[in-house]
Amino acid sequence: MKLAIATLFFAAPAAAFAPSASFGANSALKMSTEAATEKAFAKLPASVKPGVVTGQALKDLLDDAKAKGYAIPGVNIVGTNSINSCIEAAAKYGGPIMVTFSKGGGQFIAGKAADNTDDAASIAGCIAGALHVRQVAKLYGVPVVLHTDHCQKAWLPWIDGLLEASQDYYEKNGEPLFSSHMLDLSEESLEENIGICKTYMEKFAKLDMLLEFELGVTGGEEDGVDNTDVDSSRLYTQPEEVWYAYQQLSEVPNAMFTCAASFGNVHGVYAPGNVDLQPIILHNSQKFIQEKLDNDNEKNMYFVFHGGSGSDVKDIKYAIEAGVIKMNIDTDTQWAFWDGVRAYEAEHHDYLQAQIGNPDGDDKPNKKYYDPRMSLRAGEEAMAARLCEAAEDLNCVNVLN
Ligand SMILES: [Zn+2]
Repeated sequence: MKLAIATLFFAAPAAAFAPSASFGANSALKMSTEAATEKAFAKLPASVKPGVVTGQALKDLLDDAKAKGYAIPGVNIVGTNSINSCIEAAAKYGGPIMVTFSKGGGQFIAGKAADNTDDAASIAGCIAGALHVRQVAKLYGVPVVLHTDHCQKAWLPWIDGLLEASQDYYEKNGEPLFSSHMLDLSEESLEENIGICKTYMEKFAKLDMLLEFELGVTGGEEDGVDNTDVDSSRLYTQPEEVWYAYQQLSEVPNAMFTCAASFGNVHGVYAPGNVDLQPIILHNSQKFIQEKLDNDNEKNMYFVFHGGSGSDVKDIKYAIEAGVIKMNIDTDTQWAFWDGVRAYEAEHHDYLQAQIGNPDGDDKPNKKYYDPRMSLRAGEEAMAARLCEAAEDLNCVNVLN
């Protein structure tokens, strides 16, 4: 009933999309004809609907986050259990979620035994996972961003395969399969990094997709990317570099991009004192860009925060003030999932040692305890609970209605 009233009174006229809707020439046209008048979420722009958001809807969502000062949790997933945990959590905390596939996570979804020649399994697994998200996300009534994680230069064929899938999907459905991809060419020189990003930005823009790029290096180790020995100066991006990237990518028509700038962040969770976060770098970069553009926008760049696990809440909040609209959480949700399974086993240990026989009797069956759904569900619940905590840190609670 509440929802119906909201729809009646807050219905936005189609004109709300003009002329500020600068992104998505194709999708903007489509929306004006589809009469995007019904608001699905009272607090969000009318373009944002339950399910996967792409193109203009994605831009509107990120603008909303930037303007109101919240960031979307970006979570690395490895299968339907972790995917569903993410979306379940989003429904609980009342906000959007970014479901993120790594190359290794995609391969895991296809199955570790599947032939991965030319990244075939990584590509197939990511597509299968994306289709799963598209099929179930609407059931939870939340907006979901479909994204992929770090892709270094040697891994570009993986993204090429996913782009092909988005092209196919676009031809049939008028939107890409994935909302966005990350390219991490921070191992290369700045010019080569941004040069390659620009080439891909052109491909992405044709499909109304967003590009996330990386400047500097996120320390630590994650999913086949080991930066534990990298020189510490490279862990801190310079405002000039952010401006250079901004200028270059902005030259592409219909471009939409986010920047993973390094400010001392690392993948993984380490002992306190090992990480020196400097989110002031993001603030300085915004100031630098604003001066160059000479406009009244204090947050021209959309930033994303990698290596969020284990970060100080005060650093997180300060980073959000600088235009961070997404924070990656992987290590902490991995731990949470495992911890849920571990706690389940600890609680029911004596019922999990044989198919038959437990403290209630030598002939008692244990089927209902060892059914994989029991332990996996315990993992899902623990992961979702951890994500609800993350959403609080990110000011992402109750931002839908
Ligand atoms: Zn990362």
